Amino acid sequence: MYVYTKSLINNLFVNFFFKFSITFVAIFSFLLFLYITPSWANKLNDGHIHYNDDVWDDLSPDQVISYLTENEINRAIVFGTPTAGTEKLYKLSPQRVIPFLMPYRVFRDRHTWHSDPTMPDYVKQQLSTGIYKGFGEFHLFKEHKDTTVIRQLMQMVADHKIMLSAHADVETIEALIEMQPEVSVIWAHCGMDHPVEDVRRMLAQYPKLFCELSFRYNMFDKQGKLLTQWKTLLEEYSKRFILGMDTYIPRRWANLPENVDFARQWLSQLQPETRKLIGGGNIDRMFPLKK
Ligand SMILES: [Zn+2]
Repeated sequence: MYVYTKSLINNLFVNFFFKFSITFVAIFSFLLFLYITPSWANKLNDGHIHYNDDVWDDLSPDQVISYLTENEINRAIVFGTPTAGTEKLYKLSPQRVIPFLMPYRVFRDRHTWHSDPTMPDYVKQQLSTGIYKGFGEFHLFKEHKDTTVIRQLMQMVADHKIMLSAHADVETIEALIEMQPEVSVIWAHCGMDHPVEDVRRMLAQYPKLFCELSFRYNMFDKQGKLLTQWKTLLEEYSKRFILGMDTYIPRRWANLPENVDFARQWLSQLQPETRKLIGGGNIDRMFPLKK
């Protein structure tokens, strides 16, 4: 009897202790999760979202906003060809959509817009809506960097005190900044394949230049680790880089979850303050929300 009772007590004790331990571990893990998961991890801001007409049938404006929410993208710079897509998203979610005016009414404008005499009137009329916070994304290379149309458009951008998003080479970025030094420029894809030394020199030389990082896959080694030179640059100029998912074709919308995961993976290689800024803080600083 004594033995039986003792073993029962033992069992009860072991059982209680076991359950208590499990509960304790669960609570402790949850608290640890809350502690080590900083707010940046749940919210990103994106500097390169396209909402072009080739996805309108599959992704309504409502679905775009839900999809961004699912992927924990809070605010986004949005471009559209045509720009009606951007307007629809902005009307739906003015707190989250930062509308930029892409100068392409149809896709083929991409090749001619810089010299198209109808462009200044079109841009003037669009900017008069007052919703746009930027002009771009546009593609412009050194052969066409200084046309009459470009000068007129740059004057309008300066008059409206809005930013640029330029997919361009070093020479073109320099020409645009020299044309209108007060205009802040987001360098789309951070020059794409210009060497890291060029990016460093540009950031040092032009304090109003920001770098958007979509398609900069050459920042990483084969394992997705940031190369030392890039890591150093991101830390040093942490206030000048922004994320971008670049949904320029339907496939990039489909791949958005993987691209967001990859961004979180490489952001986690940076100092906490840097990852907060590049992950979203910089866009909040560049485009403060109205209180
Ligand atoms: Zn783009």
